[in-house]
Amino acid sequence: MKNVTLILGGTKEAAELAAELAEASPDARIIYSLAGRTKEPIPVAGEMRTGGFGGVDGLVDYIRTNGITHLIDATHPFAESISKNAQMAAKLAKISIDVRERKPWHQQAGDRWIKVHDLHAACEAIPANARVLLALGSQNIGEFASRSDVHFLIRMVDEPTAKLPFDNYTIELGKPSDVEHETWILKSHNISHIVCRNSGGSGAYSKIEAARALGVPVIIVDRN
Ligand code: NAP
Repeated sequence: MKNVTLILGGTKEAAELAAELAEASPDARIIYSLAGRTKEPIPVAGEMRTGGFGGVDGLVDYIRTNGITHLIDATHPFAESISKNAQMAAKLAKISIDVRERKPWHQQAGDRWIKVHDLHAACEAIPANARVLLALGSQNIGEFASRSDVHFLIRMVDEPTAKLPFDNYTIELGKPSDVEHETWILKSHNISHIVCRNSGGSGAYSKIEAARALGVPVIIVDRN
């Protein structure tokens, strides 16, 4: 039976993994799966499919229909539903699963982290009248709209299609950049706090380094 690998992706590391596997085994079939959240995802080597599977049953069905022999969960560490579904589907379909989870960041000397357990607690931890860089991804910002006293600089990959339900906000379009740029963002918007999750990885770490250098507190949602 031919090996067919399904990579559940959506991260920089997952795209890199697809390229590595394609180079290591040019004849193998590798399918890269995205939820379809961003308009212009990172291009990947090999086949790409987009959109939800329809829960565990849908994923099991996809695995069987496409003769998947190996599943790799390389999704974002806070993408919890798909990871749970993948575990269950691999078990039901009786195929192997490999989980590539990014390690969390660890607090360094100089970091002023306020650790919280969820987005609600993050929202409550913001002091009155703060100026916040909200670096959570567009799906996770709704909770913060209740804070009309706060000015939010909201980082988003794609431009929103409608006005956001916030009283005071500015949109910062794009992905995290290098430390110099993140430092410039924090300074030029007079940011008093960052709100983010402990996503780990190198891509989003520059804001943590910039905050450390400037002494800006980071309200950070911990892993469960
Ligand atoms: P989630 O809450 O775990 O997933 C919600 C639903 O989206 C899943 O039940 C599944 O739908 C579908 N889905 C998620 N990842 C998929 C994938 N790779 N391929 C096909 N369907 C997928 O996930 P999320 O937090 O919305 O994240 C969605 C995607 O964005 C993931 O691929 C993740 O790696 C990426 N991402 C997430 C974050 C984040 O902050 N959460 C950050 C960067 C990138 P069905 O039940 O219909 O199959």
